[in-house]
Amino acid sequence: MPRGKQSKGQCTHCGLEVAKNGVARHLKSCAPWQELVRKAENKKGGNEKLYRLRVQAAGLPEFWLDLEMRGRGALKDLDRYLRAIWLECCGHMSQFSFGGWRGDELPMGRRIQDVLEPGAELTHIYDFGTSSETLIKAVDVREGRPVSSHPITLQVRNVMPESECIECGQPAAWLCMECLQENIWGALCDKHAKAHPHDEYGEPIPLVNSPRLGMCGYTGPAEPPY
Ligand SMILES: [Zn+2]
Ligand SMILES: [Zn+2]
Ligand SMILES: [Zn+2]
Ligand SMILES: [Zn+2]
Repeated sequence: MPRGKQSKGQCTHCGLEVAKNGVARHLKSCAPWQELVRKAENKKGGNEKLYRLRVQAAGLPEFWLDLEMRGRGALKDLDRYLRAIWLECCGHMSQFSFGGWRGDELPMGRRIQDVLEPGAELTHIYDFGTSSETLIKAVDVREGRPVSSHPITLQVRNVMPESECIECGQPAAWLCMECLQENIWGALCDKHAKAHPHDEYGEPIPLVNSPRLGMCGYTGPAEPPY
């Protein structure tokens, strides 16, 4: 897997890079975000509980997201979001629980505000065969009006971890699936992707910003749904 240096994320509101442990501080001073919040406060409607969720790939902490989620949003909304941005390969089953595999499965219709206490950590498992596990923690709750009609707003997303070409050490943009079958993170630069001899699983695939890349049939696109 890619080697993690100090993990940084990019704020989707202002575009600045933010340290993983500096998101709360950043949002307080992020002008476009504060503007969104102010505009939302002028809209009609009552206050809602709004959760800031820290989402992290289990065992791969360089993949992380900070989301604001409406408390009335349901687990299935979060499931859909995670599938779109990170996970979906072939429509596998998924579940939320407290405590991972040993925990009881939570119904997808449950609202975030009814299941998630600040500080508590949910586990999401996608695909019970070649599984991807994601940890979700409520790191903050505010009362206010949602900035979007969607249940989830992407605040900060990890900057794509750098991989080095296994041939020359230069920044890689491709991944060899045949190497991966042999448990080698076969990252390749443009030049060596062309020259790489393995083709049993097709041409090298582009590296994308997802902890599931190369697992089962996952090749991306790793884009947020909204
Ligand atoms: Zn910002
Ligand atoms: Zn699959
Ligand atoms: Zn190379
Ligand atoms: Zn290879």
